[in-house]
Amino acid sequence: MSAHADPHCIFCKIVAGQIPSRKVYEDDELFAFHDIHPWAPVHFLMVPKLHVASMAHVGPEHEALLGRIMALAPKLALEQGCQPYPDGGFRIVVNTGAQGGQEVHHLHVHVMGGPRPWARG
Ligand code: 5GP
Ligand code: ZN
Repeated sequence: MSAHADPHCIFCKIVAGQIPSRKVYEDDELFAFHDIHPWAPVHFLMVPKLHVASMAHVGPEHEALLGRIMALAPKLALEQGCQPYPDGGFRIVVNTGAQGGQEVHHLHVHVMGGPRPWARG
């Protein structure tokens, strides 16, 4: 586990390979993997390898990292089976804090898509 990880964080453990996941993508800064309880036919999570607890913790120093996640999401969505815009598409969600529905406190971007109906949402 890297020096920027939280040893108690489940997503840091997934990034480090200490908890298995179905990987979608990895580079030096980012990791993406399928959600264990998918809401939609395609549902994966994109995380920075750096432990950032939530969107509420984001500052100017994270602009490039978040930009990279957002710029990569459409490509990964298509690769994972989302259908093309405008008839297909995808949904991007970032739950933040208790009232925002956040359960895992390592910043993650949900990417969901595929044919309706979805299990949720
Ligand atoms: P949140 O509610 O924090 O936005 O979403 C956390 C997401 O992480 C949930 O959709 C949940 O299914 C997913 N999740 C929680 N634990 C694990 C895990 O161990 N592996 C994977 N692949 N997904 C997980
Ligand atoms: Zn973490």
